Formats: sequence, C-alpha cells, structure tokens
Amino acid sequence: MAEQIFAATIDYQQLSANASSIIKATGVPLMAVVKADAYGHGLIPSAQAALTGGAAWLGTAFIDEAVKLREGGITAPILAWLTPPTTDFRRALEFTIDLSVSSLEQLSAIISASEVIRVRPRIHLKVDTGMTRGGALDEFPVLVSALGELLDEERIELVGTWSHLACADEPKNPMNLNQYSRFISALEYLESEGINPGIRHLANSGAIVHFPNFAFDMVRAGLLIYGYIPGAITTQRVRVKPVMELSADIALVKRVPAGATIGYGATTRLPEDRYIALLPLGYADGIPRRFDSELLCTIGGIRYPLIGRVSMDQVTVDLGAQTSIKAGDRAIFFGPDTGLTADDWAMAAGTISYEILSRLGARIPRVAR
Ligand SMILES: *Cc1c(COP(=O)(O)O)cnc(C)c1O
Repeated sequence: MAEQIFAATIDYQQLSANASSIIKATGVPLMAVVKADAYGHGLIPSAQAALTGGAAWLGTAFIDEAVKLREGGITAPILAWLTPPTTDFRRALEFTIDLSVSSLEQLSAIISASEVIRVRPRIHLKVDTGMTRGGALDEFPVLVSALGELLDEERIELVGTWSHLACADEPKNPMNLNQYSRFISALEYLESEGINPGIRHLANSGAIVHFPNFAFDMVRAGLLIYGYIPGAITTQRVRVKPVMELSADIALVKRVPAGATIGYGATTRLPEDRYIALLPLGYADGIPRRFDSELLCTIGGIRYPLIGRVSMDQVTVDLGAQTSIKAGDRAIFFGPDTGLTADDWAMAAGTISYEILSRLGARIPRVAR
C-alpha cells in the first residue's frame, strides 16, 4: 500500500460495537444510516461493520448510494428516501431497494417503473409530522387511499410507515411530543382505513438517546454508530465511542523569528521566536477555514494550537519556543485516543460534529485501523 501522508483511520470494530450497544439500549432492530459515504467513514466498510454489529437495515439518502451497497455485495434491506422526479426508480426496483413515498406523484412514478420491470415495489409511507422536509402533509389521506387500492391489487408492499424528527437533540423542545402524537395519529388513521403500517420508525440518534418510547419497531441511527452524540452531551443510555482518527505527517518543522507573520493575510505575527510545523491538510480536505476559538491537534500526546489561516491544502501549528518534534512525526487532529474530538472542532467552528465528519474531503484515504 502506498504510504499514507494523511488518513482517516477508522476503527470498524468499534463501529460494530456502537451498533450493538444501540440495539441493546433500544431493544428494537436498527437501521444504520450510511448516507454521505457513511458520514465520511467509508460507505461499504461502515455498512458491513454496522451489519456485523447487528444492524438489520441500512438507510441512504439516494438510490445511487443504495446501489453501491448492493454492488458491494450487501443483501440487507435498504431504504433510500431522497428521490426527485428524475430518479431512475427502475434501477431501485431492480436492486431491491425500498423506497419512501411522500406524494402521489412519487407513488405513480414508482408504479410506472414497476409495471415495466414487473417487480412489486417495497414502499415506506413517509408522514410529515412537523419537520417539513419530505413526508405527506395535506395529501396524506388521498395518498393513503391510493396505497390502499394498490395494496388490494397486490401491486405494492407497504413495508413501513415513518417520519423524521426536527428537534430530537433538544429533549425539552415541545416539538418532540408534538411530532410523536402526529405520528400516532397517522398510524391510527391507517388502522381506521384497514391498512397495516408495517414497520413503524421515527427515532434518529437524538431520539434514541432522549426518547426511549419513540423506538416503535425500528430506530434509524446515523451519528451514534460513528460514536458521536447529537448535542455533544454525555449519556449513560447508549455507550458509543468515536471511530475515526484524522491524522497527518508533519511536512516541515522550522524555527521562525519573532515578528514574522504566518500564512495568507499575514494575520498572525509571532511575538517571539517559535517553532512551526506544517501539516498537509487544509480546507479542501474539510478543515474549516473559520474558527471562533482555538483549534488544537496533538503531536506525541501533547496538544498544540493551529496558528495563522487555514490554507487549501495546509495548516501551520505553533510548537512553541523549543521542540524536539521533527518533520515526519505524526499529528492527530482528532481521534478516540487523543481526547480531541470532532465535537471540539465543531464547537470552535460554530457547527456540529455531523458537518465536520461528513465534509472530510475525498482525497483523505479511509483506512481500517
Ligand atoms: C440522516 C438521517 C437519519 C440519521 O440521523 P442521525 O441524527 O445521524 O441519527 C435518520 N433518518 C433520516 C431521514 C435521515 O435523513
């Protein structure tokens, strides 16, 4: 293997362990959400690790992501939920990918595709309970009656009924109970129409942590399987540990005299002679260019602050007035063994761990630990 100048090293065994501990905590089957290259952790190996840990289902945003899983040899049920009208539903049906339906228009596009290839579509009816993204709202009753007819004619399979929460990381937000009761109402409506909702699923990572009674027949966990908790809180309920370490070899170490400025914009002027390390990762790799507070990395177990602006491919680190660190030594930006996490970065950059993880650039190799 070519030498890794930088890498996102992933502990897939820990990912499996995270999946099992979610299953243990909730007591229901787990859909592991692996959209966006498994939040930056590598689609296929992450999906496999989640399945090894006991996940029964996989969830993706797009059909292309789901097809990649099938082509990677994965046979577990997969739900893809983001399907614009231009979507190739035939491809989804050929690969036995479950589809979410929020509108009559989507439903009829799926039915047309199924008539061509003679496959019975596997549908999850999505209810908008207040998130106001996907999900049927005004159209819900007509959609239900259309589904009812198709079910009677055995032209579809209603595999599940589901919805998505807007505020599950804020346990005190009344939105949560609101959405929960709207979901219950939707299920009752289906029942009153004599329709079996199939697998009922509502909870994301936030709900798994804060709302045990939202589990229904399955939970959908993304962030938790990668070892982070929404809202960067600590919890006893689900024991997970981050699985990714982001590291890079130091490209250069040099002494820089007092008064020198560092990087674009010459924004930082050294008050005294310092040693500076150059690291070969930048904003093109997902390191945020904007920070409100200090960003740290660790070298040899000691923390050092980044200094100066983040460039496209590189950043500089302040090693202090004396150092024994040499070019070629390894710097770790965040990782389970350093005490620095994607949450630290997120807090410094005014964002969330989800964004830090999922925006790591494509040129960073994902390497199994
Ligand atoms: C991304 C996503 C999830 C997973 O969310 P987490 O907060 O990462 O657990 C679940 N359901 C849907 C519809 C999603 O888009």
